[in-house]
Amino acid sequence: MVANPELRGTAHPLDKPSGTTNAYEQAVDELTRSYRAVPKGERVRLAKKSSNLFRQRSAGKVHRLDVSAFGSVLSVDPRGRWADVGGMATYEHIVDALLPHGVMPKVVPQLKTITLGGALSGLGIESTSFRSGMPHETVIDMDVLTGDGRVVTARPEGEHSDLFYGFPNSYGTLGYALRARIEVEPVSPYVRLRHVRFDSFEEVAEAIGVLCETRRFEGAPVDFLDGTVFSRDECYLSVGTWSDTAPLTSDYTRDAIYYKSIQQRSRDWLGARDYLWRWDTDWFWCSKAFYAQNPVVRRLAGRRFLRSDVYWKIMAFEERYKIKARMDARRGQPERENVIQDVEVPVERLAEFLDGFTREVPILPVWLCPLRQLDPAVTWNLYPLDPSKTYVNVGFWSSVPVRDGAGPSYHNRWVEDEVERLDGRKSLYSTAFYDPERFWALYNGPVYRTLKDRYDPDSRLADLYAKCVKGS
Ligand SMILES: Cc1cc2nc3c(=O)[nH]c(=O)nc-3n(C[C@H](O)[C@H](O)[C@H](O)COP(=O)(O)OP(=O)(O)OC[C@H]3O[C@@H](n4cnc5c(N)ncnc54)[C@H](O)[C@@H]3O)c2cc1C
Repeated sequence: MVANPELRGTAHPLDKPSGTTNAYEQAVDELTRSYRAVPKGERVRLAKKSSNLFRQRSAGKVHRLDVSAFGSVLSVDPRGRWADVGGMATYEHIVDALLPHGVMPKVVPQLKTITLGGALSGLGIESTSFRSGMPHETVIDMDVLTGDGRVVTARPEGEHSDLFYGFPNSYGTLGYALRARIEVEPVSPYVRLRHVRFDSFEEVAEAIGVLCETRRFEGAPVDFLDGTVFSRDECYLSVGTWSDTAPLTSDYTRDAIYYKSIQQRSRDWLGARDYLWRWDTDWFWCSKAFYAQNPVVRRLAGRRFLRSDVYWKIMAFEERYKIKARMDARRGQPERENVIQDVEVPVERLAEFLDGFTREVPILPVWLCPLRQLDPAVTWNLYPLDPSKTYVNVGFWSSVPVRDGAGPSYHNRWVEDEVERLDGRKSLYSTAFYDPERFWALYNGPVYRTLKDRYDPDSRLADLYAKCVKGS
């Protein structure tokens, strides 16, 4: 096992040369004390520097919990293939700490400032999810500050196994993850990519099913798999394989743009770190809205500003002050509806979903990322998937003009109805419009109620419906 001083990454209170355990325990004590001191009835929120949420949060008095002591990697055991990580550590920090040891988390969400706790309580997905599932499926155990002010260790067995299986999709409404031991896997220096074109939704869906089953392509193992739909007849799967060598590597952190390369070249090589963050520089393709794909703007911005968290901050500012929306209204432009969602649909219904989506919601490109639940014997209670099925995450993040005569959330509601009709699931990091009955039927109200009564009986943290639909 390697204790944290040898780990690379940002200097941090927990990165002290000795007494890692003491430092962590001290930080836990301090946090527990400060949490218990918050007056009952006052709302609590994490004081974090970054977020990747896309729903409005209600204003009003909130107590911001200082969790800055939980942002680092505590230790790593490359041979045992695990790492102890602070719940507020960003994946950028985690990856930088682990790569020098030749390992990475089994699932690394695509945006640098997604945190471990955010991914565990709010779900995460990436191009290893077809073989490694979601981040919560790679947790060995975790410490959680529960709503009633205790710190408990949740693991698959034992006293708090209910919390372990109920934590994913709880969005900080049962408690906050302070530390998790996660599984890691060995890395190679490079990823060899093949971008394979398909001319229809049916063909791309069929190929996803086959690749998830065989895990081989052109005689090589498939280590990474995701896809991009540019139009009805231009869909790509990007198949990645670990490689010890590369004839040359591409750089998409500055002038060149990764998503455009998918259409331009059928083969590519990236360094391991660059592969993991290939989508971050341009927030998939969403950087276009901020003119960041203009070569001059790109040059001026430089690597420091070509990052998803920079775009998120600009967008959050606009959500708050509506400057562009007001200018558009003055220019007579139609009102727009944000449709920023990730949904999971079974692969056999993917073509049907994409067909309806491209007719009803004029957003392209969209991202495809297959996933399978790892252990068919378990149930993740607040976001249950059918373990016998391959699902495909479909991600779309843009805005569309509000339809004449339709409500301002018409397109989002269409997505909710369609996903339900196709036996899919919708993640809750963005806006949701369900009524309470439907919401609790979809997200396991009875189990949630039991967990809430056990871990947050005085409702010091918001309720899942209030938080994810009402924006409390
Ligand atoms: C354009 C776009 C692309 C995306 N792409 C991906 C992707 O490729 N892969 C992917 O996995 N996800 C993706 N997401 C979704 C993202 O993973 C989720 O929004 C995630 O929950 C954000 O985590 P965060 O760490 O930024 O948490 P925050 O935004 O800070 O918080 C999210 C929620 O989690 C709770 N929370 C945060 N930390 C903790 C903790 N330690 N313990 C308990 N609860 C906590 C908060 O209370 C809050 O309710 C994408 C989102 C967008 C908008």
